Amino acid sequence: MKRFVYADHSATTQPSEHVVETMLPYLRTYYGNPSSLYAISDQTKSAVEHAREQVARALGAESKEIFFTSGGSESDNWAIKGVAHQLAQKGKKHIVSSVFEHHAVLHTLDALKKEGFEITLLPVHDNGIVRVEELTAALREDTALVTIMFANNEIGTIQPIAEIGAICKQRGILFHTDAVQAVGNIPIDVHEMNIDLLSLSAHKFYGPKGVGALYVRKGVRLPNLIDGGMQEVGRRAGTENVAGIVGLGTAIEDAVSTMQERNQKLILMRDKIIDEALKIERSRLNGDRYQRLPGSANISFEGIEGEALLLWLDQNGICASSGSACTTASLDPSHVLLALGLKHEVAHGSLRLSLGAENTMEDVDHILSVLPRVVDMLRAMSPLWEEIKKQEAL
Ligand SMILES: *Cc1c(COP(=O)(O)O)cnc(C)c1O
Repeated sequence: MKRFVYADHSATTQPSEHVVETMLPYLRTYYGNPSSLYAISDQTKSAVEHAREQVARALGAESKEIFFTSGGSESDNWAIKGVAHQLAQKGKKHIVSSVFEHHAVLHTLDALKKEGFEITLLPVHDNGIVRVEELTAALREDTALVTIMFANNEIGTIQPIAEIGAICKQRGILFHTDAVQAVGNIPIDVHEMNIDLLSLSAHKFYGPKGVGALYVRKGVRLPNLIDGGMQEVGRRAGTENVAGIVGLGTAIEDAVSTMQERNQKLILMRDKIIDEALKIERSRLNGDRYQRLPGSANISFEGIEGEALLLWLDQNGICASSGSACTTASLDPSHVLLALGLKHEVAHGSLRLSLGAENTMEDVDHILSVLPRVVDMLRAMSPLWEEIKKQEAL
């Protein structure tokens, strides 16, 4: 039987059995609208509040600082547009971010730019990490917001969030982080790290899709993104996705309580992949070797196309990605890889392997038994590789 290896956890994760089990009663039995007054709604109302406590506890926040949303993209939009519009009233129209944010952040910033906001995008250099001194230098009197992702979704690099938080606090500037890749995967404490706003999404840590949350530090004023009913104390309208919220609560609690043990395993597996893949000639690891998510590796192989590599891995039962799932339909290489200074043709030959809870060392061995063969085969029929070899011979 063909082995199946899912190695695309940065794109999404499979909801755990425990998560699905806790959700099912809220699809089958407890269907009451949390806003209604009869008894069957008490159950759904308290389930939502229990999940809010679970999320708060995972972040070191208070439950009244947690607002449920439809996912990471909505949380990013709400935080960034909200702060921008709130502080524009005080003449603050400058936002600092980085070139390799998720499109949920970058496209939101594009929209604000069209409204007249000024955006500074910091470089991430060849290691995929923002430099704190460059961030400090970019801050201005009229800076309303700094938004820097916690960990990058394509290359897995982790940003100096606590340092950035400390600087923003000192300068009185609000700090938002898209922590969609980080929550449930690495430790986070919003108070220790001086984070004012934080986006998370359940489906990146073994929860359901279409549900997320925004942490908003108490005292931060944030206009609504979605107007309507009085749900979420009037700050985010729409009947609650009760089953999704319950799943999110279970998933975040489980992910945090099993994190340490899982990460010890993941780091061993990730490092084996990196060490072995880098033995393939003309390969490179994208992003810092150590400052990265425990399960994430992004490697470029010169002379091949990432899409072809993905198809052949898929033929061998391996699910991986060549960029972010959102951009695989476009032919331009990923903005993240270009931000590291990779040439277009090198960026095109990139592979993201992101491991998760259910992966084993046998999965890694399967990947490593297939990968070098497929790279060799694709190179054997690649005119680009022939050219590289000719140049080498000169
Ligand atoms: C997945 C992801 C998002 C988008 O989250 P959705 O819940 O899919 O909208 C945003 N930012 C990062 C870093 C992500 O990895």
